[in-house]
Amino acid sequence: MTSEIVSTPVVAPAVREQFRQGTRVEFRDVTRVYGRTRALDGLTLTVEPGELLALLGPSGCGKTTALRILAGFAEPSSGAVLVDDQDVTRTAVNRRDMGMVFQAYSLFPTMTARDNVAFGLRLRKQGKDHRRHRADELLELVGLTTHSEKFPHQLSGGQQQRVALARALAIAPRVLLLDEPLSALDAKVREQLREEIRRIQLELGVTTVFVTHDQEEALSMADRVAVMNAGRLEQADAPAELYHRPATTFVARFVGSMNHLPGTLIGRDQVRVHASGQLLPLMATQESGAGAVRVLVRPEAITVTPDADGDGVVVLTAFRGATTRVQVLLGNGTELAADVAQHQAVRLPAGERVSVTVHDQPVLVEPA
Ligand code: ADP
Ligand code: MG
Repeated sequence: MTSEIVSTPVVAPAVREQFRQGTRVEFRDVTRVYGRTRALDGLTLTVEPGELLALLGPSGCGKTTALRILAGFAEPSSGAVLVDDQDVTRTAVNRRDMGMVFQAYSLFPTMTARDNVAFGLRLRKQGKDHRRHRADELLELVGLTTHSEKFPHQLSGGQQQRVALARALAIAPRVLLLDEPLSALDAKVREQLREEIRRIQLELGVTTVFVTHDQEEALSMADRVAVMNAGRLEQADAPAELYHRPATTFVARFVGSMNHLPGTLIGRDQVRVHASGQLLPLMATQESGAGAVRVLVRPEAITVTPDADGDGVVVLTAFRGATTRVQVLLGNGTELAADVAQHQAVRLPAGERVSVTVHDQPVLVEPA
């Protein structure tokens, strides 16, 4: 099941009109305790009107708990949830006007695609003709017009998730909530649906919270990414900001690849990188100390040069399309990864002696 139909969503004006633009969502110091687990620990976070915010973090960090509390499926132990400045913390699920898409297999198996999409409208006591008309509009939006009579088991995984998306959107929700909606799909379909969800979301302007543990997915889809760790928010920022200026070493390690190079702190705001002997400035957010550290450096921030007198040797290269990842073993036993352009990679076969330099940019360090 790899050949999905690539459809460009065409949002009918009638569909777009249903959406109230500009719902703001706010978590205010939300904590949720389950026994001895603090699933959420003082989460304060605002989702701006029309924004797609990705909640990103490892399994168990509290993403689903946050989404369930926002949707009204769970109550916080303390703190509040606000929607357009109104406290909805104790508001019932069906009065919050939120559409939700789950990981997978959440369609009603005995209903056709059309009836699945129309389900929320039936609950809202909408007439039969209206339900049918609206369901068909939404199935068109997700490119499934010709599949409206099919049952879930007759649809591919990607198609099922499109139906789930159409079902969530059918009620014209104030907020769209997606909990790892693509993680059960294969890579190709996942990428297509990413784009499609994002395009539909932009067109409708619906405020969206997208939960994922996949940093690539979060970075490629979201206006802002909120990185969570053990129930706490580490950083919420635009993808490029997160990537280039991680606020914490947790974010630095979780987002993108990272080398951990031995170094020594020098004075208040510099670090000596032993891989290259360079002295680099510390990132402003970093508390300086003294002694041995690990310096966090992105693979693309390392230049590898053929050098007969160099301290390193190339141990492995892996073609990655636009770049090649070159693994280098240094004399002191440190191994590092560098991403280099194709025309440079051809000069760096395994066994080649090399020297490395790190781009002269502020770096984060962590205790060795
Ligand atoms: P994520 O979605 O990021 O993987 P969850 O929000 O599902 O994380 O879970 C966060 C933590 O809270 C985990 O340790 C999980 O085991 C715990 N937890 C979540 N829901 C419940 C529950 N209903 N009862 C007990 N523990 C729960
Ligand atoms: Mg989860």
